[in-house]
Amino acid sequence: MEKEFVKAITPRSEDFSQWYVDVVLKAELADYAPVKGCIVFRPYGYTIWEYIQAELDRRFKETGHVNAYFPLFVPESFFRREAEHVAGFSPQVAWVTRGGDEDLAERLAVRPTSETVIGVMYAKWIQSYRDLPVLINQWCNVVRWEKATRPFIRTTEFLWQEGHTCHRTAAEAEEEALRMLEVYRSFVEDYLSIPVIPGEKSAGERFAGAERTYTIEGLMGDRRALQCATSHFLGQNFARSFDIKFLDVDGQLKYVWQTSWGISTRIVGALIMVHGDDRGLVLPPTVAPHQVVVVPIVGRDSERVLAASREVTDRLRGRFRVKLDDRPEFSPGWKFNDWEMRGVPLRLEIGPRDLAAEQVTAARRDTGERTALPLSRLEEGVAELLDEVHRGLYRRALEFRQAHTHEAGDLASLRAIMEGPRGFIRAHWCEKPGCEERIKEETGATIRCLPFGEQGEGRCVLCGEPARQVVYLARAY
Ligand SMILES: [Zn+2]
Repeated sequence: MEKEFVKAITPRSEDFSQWYVDVVLKAELADYAPVKGCIVFRPYGYTIWEYIQAELDRRFKETGHVNAYFPLFVPESFFRREAEHVAGFSPQVAWVTRGGDEDLAERLAVRPTSETVIGVMYAKWIQSYRDLPVLINQWCNVVRWEKATRPFIRTTEFLWQEGHTCHRTAAEAEEEALRMLEVYRSFVEDYLSIPVIPGEKSAGERFAGAERTYTIEGLMGDRRALQCATSHFLGQNFARSFDIKFLDVDGQLKYVWQTSWGISTRIVGALIMVHGDDRGLVLPPTVAPHQVVVVPIVGRDSERVLAASREVTDRLRGRFRVKLDDRPEFSPGWKFNDWEMRGVPLRLEIGPRDLAAEQVTAARRDTGERTALPLSRLEEGVAELLDEVHRGLYRRALEFRQAHTHEAGDLASLRAIMEGPRGFIRAHWCEKPGCEERIKEETGATIRCLPFGEQGEGRCVLCGEPARQVVYLARAY
């Protein structure tokens, strides 16, 4: 029974894609929906998203933002006003053409993102410099018609937040775009224990309609990169298309400067792919639906063991998210496997021997390490161990990324890395779009970002011309 259970998940080392799907389904994070390309967030997966949401929302408000909600539908005429934007998103837009029994006079796009519908409202609300800045965020769903999908990572409908801000000056908007990138970086690194590389996107990878796109890029367990969040400096592109003007202090009518920024449920996929192992999911304590599971080892002395397990659970409740697994129909071994597969950071075992020694046996999910924890310092001990798991996960992920970051000086070495160990490749690039395109064609790697503060003499990895710009390349999700 136990052997069979572990076998139910394809080992990560054997087939990463299949392992990923197995974890998503078996840990009950999500299920495939009857609609192609869509998933159902099951309670265990949705709870993780709720913790992500709550913490991000707190950080957005701390930086002066407020929430609002805009409609799901965007009239086609709004959508067409910003030419680059419409060209970028058109292939992925779902359209509503009928309402009830009537054909609509104007088609409605199901929002793939909300710059346009929000722009129309901002034009109405903003008149004077006194109305600025506008710092609004929205939590919602968006739809992008996708051909190939993967749970959390790429789905036709997904959940996210999108911040949309307006400012008096370019410098203020630029500062805001970078501030929000930093909010994402610190959230993803400190809260989710996922190390990322912050930087700017190349022109070819920029958000449709933005002047600059900033990104944080993480490395997944299969050595492919994942864009974890983006923040855009929109300049005045949307302001001009939507006529968002204000009367400035000098009496002049001017266009506002804008930003937008977002993080989506894709980050749940990153959590799975960065921290997971052959036994399944590994969750950082910050977002684990259950941080601690208590498993009574019943045999002889069942009643006393059960009573002690309940007592331990009660003591921890309030301070930690703790679950007592006293299901009589499953063996302790089965429960160990089950909770390990679901990624619970810490397991406390209580058996007759633990009772006699006035202790519990604690097992960490990330390392498998077991330690005796005296009941006299139960709460402190649990807090310390959870903290160690949290920091240990970050350290492990960072070491993994460092071990899988390579330097490439020319196309041959870039190709050899991509066909061999893969991972992040640090190289120089001459900033010509032609070289970027050929790198992708020849190796499958894309420029993930132009990292902040990393410039220096070198030669373009493709054409060999002198180049100062450093880039990180990888095959990406
Ligand atoms: Zn070049």
